[in-house]
Amino acid sequence: MTAPASSSPVPRVAVIGGGPAGLMAAEILAAAGVAVTVHDRMPSLGRKLLMAGRGGLNLTHSEPLPAFLGRYGAAARRLAPLIEAFPPAALRAWAQGLGQETFVGSSGRVFPTALKASPLLRAWLARLAGLGVAFKLRQTWAGWDASGALMFRGADGATAAERPDAVILALGGASWARLGSDGAWAPALAAEGVALTPFAPANSGFKIAWSPGFADRFAGTPLKGVAVSFAGRTVRGEAMITRDGLEGGAVYALSAALRAAIARDGSAVVEIDLRPDQSAAQLAAKLDRPGRGDSLANRLRKALNLAPVAANLLREAHGRDLPADPAALAAAVKAAPIVLTAPQALDRAISTAGGVTLDAVDDALQLRARPGVFVAGEMLDWEAPTGGYLLQACFATGAAAARGVLEFLSQRERKGPAA
Ligand SMILES: Cc1cc2nc3c(=O)[nH]c(=O)nc-3n(C[C@H](O)[C@H](O)[C@H](O)COP(=O)(O)OP(=O)(O)OC[C@H]3O[C@@H](n4cnc5c(N)ncnc54)[C@H](O)[C@@H]3O)c2cc1C
Repeated sequence: MTAPASSSPVPRVAVIGGGPAGLMAAEILAAAGVAVTVHDRMPSLGRKLLMAGRGGLNLTHSEPLPAFLGRYGAAARRLAPLIEAFPPAALRAWAQGLGQETFVGSSGRVFPTALKASPLLRAWLARLAGLGVAFKLRQTWAGWDASGALMFRGADGATAAERPDAVILALGGASWARLGSDGAWAPALAAEGVALTPFAPANSGFKIAWSPGFADRFAGTPLKGVAVSFAGRTVRGEAMITRDGLEGGAVYALSAALRAAIARDGSAVVEIDLRPDQSAAQLAAKLDRPGRGDSLANRLRKALNLAPVAANLLREAHGRDLPADPAALAAAVKAAPIVLTAPQALDRAISTAGGVTLDAVDDALQLRARPGVFVAGEMLDWEAPTGGYLLQACFATGAAAARGVLEFLSQRERKGPAA
């Protein structure tokens, strides 16, 4: 789709927020001939994308699309057509076009071979500059003034008003505020009558009242190859002991259900299987051959190859007096109950649940309360586990919002300036 052509002046679009969603929208709009300005409150763009690059930059996932779309839970129905229009294969081809080959890791996750974001972001910003995109940095969007103009606050506190033909808001979630997205945009949208769901940490760790000795000794130690279960769902992976809790992929994947249970019941109990590859009977058989004089910790290490962190976790879970009986001890290893008391602070979460409700936007991601204003990325109310689903949805919604803007501009052109 291209912008309205011919004698009319080139339409001007403000993209506010220069993360993956906003930059993708800017690229599509600029390629269609629109005059695009990207505004961002930070001195440089894509800071959270660069942070994601520290973990290798898991861009997307290679699983079949139906399973992929299922990862978005309640939001899947609304996001599906947008992701189908910009699916994982399109994202990989786009990255390749920027000189970033991708590969599928053993878990099906897709990464750039560079395993970082900086080369991709550099090439992307150069492409955008080549397309004529203008960048206005250190400009914080502060809502609309009484005349309907966008208000921006500069670093010096001075305000500026802008009146573009259309707007894309891609302001991110409300975690890792030091990277730019702080959620401070919410009151400006609420004042316009836009329905918002309160922010909540997604893909977050949880607080646990470890005994002081355990926290001192094991904070920062991973529990490798475990399975974490909650409410009938089991996730295999890694979990990391923190000073006051537990984080890591296996916990993040359960975080939406855990968050809801804690809000309802005040706490939630996960069960950790420390040896998920072996049955309780197999473990019991191994434990049934005690070495003479071995302590319980030594028995667990020698018979089951349990690391000290895992053996000590058993005591945190079951109390100091673990059963000596092999079957009972094996059962304890297969299901260590750990009480989670609260999600970690929102600012530490990998992503944010809540934000602009999907009912507040139409299928083109245009705000029903504010025609001509479109919303993309993490500021929309959807959540998904880690695994590349977050970035994929940010890129896809950025692309969808850009298509929506092009359609909006051409409809306006057809109706004439009075419309
Ligand atoms: C540590 C970490 C690792 C991650 N790893 C992965 C990963 O491997 N794979 C994955 O899929 N996802 C990952 N994510 C999540 C992913 O990075 C985000 O979901 C994604 O960056 C969100 O994109 P976005 O464009 O919606 O918002 P952001 O990237 O947050 O960009 C929003 C932009 O808006 C600007 N802004 C905000 N408010 C204003 C305002 N009022 N005025 C002007 N500008 C404003 C911000 O400065 C920012 O530049 C990770 C996140 C973290 C924190």
